[in-house]
Amino acid sequence: MNKNLTEDQQAVKELLEQGASIREAARVVLDRSSKESTIRYWVANGLLGEVTIPKKKNMPRILLMDIELSPTILCGWQLFNQNFGLNQIKNEWFLLSYSAKWFGEEEVFYEDMQGIVHTEDDTHLLDSMWKLFDEADIVIGQNSKSFDTKKLNARWVMNGYKPPSPYKQIDTLDIAKRNFSFTSRKLEWMTDKMCENKKLTHGKFAGFELWKQCLLDNPEAWLEMRDYNRMDVISLEELYIKFAAWDNKHVNFNLYNEEAEHVCRCGSHRVVEHGFAYTGVSKFQQYRCLDCGAHTRGRVNLFTKDKTKSLHMNIG
Ligand SMILES: [Zn+2]
Repeated sequence: MNKNLTEDQQAVKELLEQGASIREAARVVLDRSSKESTIRYWVANGLLGEVTIPKKKNMPRILLMDIELSPTILCGWQLFNQNFGLNQIKNEWFLLSYSAKWFGEEEVFYEDMQGIVHTEDDTHLLDSMWKLFDEADIVIGQNSKSFDTKKLNARWVMNGYKPPSPYKQIDTLDIAKRNFSFTSRKLEWMTDKMCENKKLTHGKFAGFELWKQCLLDNPEAWLEMRDYNRMDVISLEELYIKFAAWDNKHVNFNLYNEEAEHVCRCGSHRVVEHGFAYTGVSKFQQYRCLDCGAHTRGRVNLFTKDKTKSLHMNIG
């Protein structure tokens, strides 16, 4: 037994090594499956040492990702109210770093431009991201619909890439806009209030200074960029799991496997019958996930033909 681990951590580690899911381990050891994020936090921070996490079953390939860009460098004479012409562009933006992970898996992929930032040649980042996107059924990001995926598309098409295989997008900012009125919809605020894995705020290099120092190839700045970027996708995953149950416009994960068993959008198989759902003239079995609480409904109308015949509808 590793004496650096608490009793709970040791028990969780043993269960995971026997093939239990993180959620099962949370339920057995920590009494609540919602404590899953505690175990994810332990794993992400190496508190359980080397441990292999079993993959979620019958799930689509879901990529969580975040990119950082270099700034466009412009020539100007004043600070305020400036409009720049194309001939005032000194350097175009490019990909500075990315981090990504597969939903439910522990490995975080990260690459950056350290050592070659002066070349502005981001090909190796574009290649890696293209391969990940090509494999993904679904891509999740914060503000990724209008920022990350379009920026990547721009770099890919400018560099002669073909489009990656089609994927659906889930944007945590969109889910936040549709369902909640928070004080702020920034990842920093939302993960600070709701997640154990919080988005890091900058350490030694505050704000733009971090980008400036990375462009100067300062190793300390790259280290900070790495920590900051990696933590973004880890906290994004936790936030996504919190949000998913509330979002009724969610992608149906069950389209991505051939099984009859329902898999929840959080990856859980513990889905039970829970009341009924009604549309204008039909009644359906309703289900609830015991882990995240998401509701879904069946597609078979439970009304008999006679009942359907007897129903009146609104006009117009
Ligand atoms: Zn669920």
